[in-house]
Amino acid sequence: MTDIFLLAQTEENGSQMPCLYIIVLIVIVFSLYVAYFLYRHFIGRWKPNPRYCSYCGQVVEPMSDCCQAVVDDQSLPPICAGCGNNCALICNQCKKPI
Ligand SMILES: [Zn+2]
Ligand SMILES: [Zn+2]
Repeated sequence: MTDIFLLAQTEENGSQMPCLYIIVLIVIVFSLYVAYFLYRHFIGRWKPNPRYCSYCGQVVEPMSDCCQAVVDDQSLPPICAGCGNNCALICNQCKKPI
C-alpha cells in the first residue's frame, strides 16, 4: 500500500517537472527582457549615436550645445543630461552644430 502511494507521488512529481521548467524559463526570459528594457531606458539613452560632422569630416559623438554634456539622442528633440532641457546637438571636436 505504501509502495503504491510512493509510486503515485513520484509520478505526480515527474509530471510537474516540465511545468516547473517552463515557469523557470519564462521567468528567466522575462527578467532578461526587463533588464534589457531598464538598460535601454536608464543607460542606453545616454549613449548617443555617432554622427558625421561635416565641419571636421569625421564621425563624432554629439553633445548638447547648452552644457556640452551627453544627450538623450533617442527623444526628439534631444534632451541634455546636464540641465534636462531640450537642446541642439553639437560636434564634440569642433563644437559646431551637427
Ligand atoms: Zn566637428
Ligand atoms: Zn544643458
